[in-house]
Amino acid sequence: MGRRKKIVQECEKLMDKPEQIRNIAIAAHVDHGKTTLTDNLLAGAGMIADEGEATRLMMDTEEDEQERGITIDAANVSMTHEYEDNNHLINLIDTPGHVDFGGDVTRAMRAVDGALVVVDAVEGAMPQTETVVRQALREGVKPALFINKVDRLISELQEGPEEMQQRLTDVISDVNELIRGMTEDMDDVDDWTVSVEDGTVAFGSALYKWGVSLPSMQATGMSFGDIIELERADKRQELHEKTPLSDVVLDMVAEHFPDPLDAQPRRIPRVWRGDDDTDLAKQMREVDDDGEVVFMVTDIGMDPHAGEIATGRVFSGTIKKGQELYVSGTAGKNRVQSVGIFMGGEREELDRGVPAGNIAAVTGLRDAIAGSTVSSVEMTPFESIEHISEPVITKS
Ligand code: GDP
Repeated sequence: MGRRKKIVQECEKLMDKPEQIRNIAIAAHVDHGKTTLTDNLLAGAGMIADEGEATRLMMDTEEDEQERGITIDAANVSMTHEYEDNNHLINLIDTPGHVDFGGDVTRAMRAVDGALVVVDAVEGAMPQTETVVRQALREGVKPALFINKVDRLISELQEGPEEMQQRLTDVISDVNELIRGMTEDMDDVDDWTVSVEDGTVAFGSALYKWGVSLPSMQATGMSFGDIIELERADKRQELHEKTPLSDVVLDMVAEHFPDPLDAQPRRIPRVWRGDDDTDLAKQMREVDDDGEVVFMVTDIGMDPHAGEIATGRVFSGTIKKGQELYVSGTAGKNRVQSVGIFMGGEREELDRGVPAGNIAAVTGLRDAIAGSTVSSVEMTPFESIEHISEPVITKS
């Protein structure tokens, strides 16, 4: 059996174990390193072999696209990661970095439970960092921080351990100030500030593929001094091998981001204004895969063969081929033609259904748009997604 087939089978197994699922987004100000980090994670999880492979994978995909009817969608990927003897299914949704795409960022946040905020160590928190943190918190999505481009502090700016530590501390304080400012009047969001001690902050270099966190430093015995020495001596490959970025970040994801069972009871009341006392509300809170189907569409993509692909989060029930589902705001029902997941950026159709707690790629929902609620019973749709980075029009 091919490697890809094995990974797909593993993902299919994990789909039924919500405690081992993490739905996450990576969000950053433009150029802070989101794309480079995403490639790292995919390579680390074995989805692409190494540097440059992402491009090769895409080309391979185009070749067999006709045969298998797959889609390239770099925005959505699923991968697996072993942490503390348990394999995890990590569904990663990319978010556009540019301010103009604020709406898309928020939509992506609706599908996930954790947001990895990437901040450039040299530039620090920027306006778009603030926007993405705000969007995450509004959606009840838990943040964690990755401070990127730390190689530049060492090799370019020639900072020593104290200076470097100070700079990292400043970035963390700035991000926490944003988080505190945005959560103080929310009564249902915990203290979601990030900290090195809690293990919710990691830092490193996406370009040179090394990263550290307090737990990783404790595990490897690496100190700030060791890192500086290796980076200065241009021994980046050694640094990567000793403390690979993808392991450090994916461990942080597995350990600190909530699973759907933990997240949905908190998130559903935030994003859905329907009657809390109904079976449907309970099914969504409990991530009930036997419940009514509730699928929130966060993105519509185009496949030259399969047509429109609706990507989104299954909050309740199991979405399956052949189901006739209501689409909010439209009359009648649409029939699900196929369901699948995204594997290393390619859509993979599955014979089975996709249960609650997962991200699904669905065809056949011809009336759905980004933001639609798709369900097996008529229901109050999810809150419309606020495009908070767009200007507010005030009445004169
Ligand atoms: P995005 O816009 O957030 O997706 O950022 P990219 O991943 O495209 O990175 C923007 C630029 O920063 C590219 O030229 C990368 O090579 C560079 N870059 C990304 N990560 C690092 C890093 O850790 N160190 C250094 N020195 N450059 C980096």
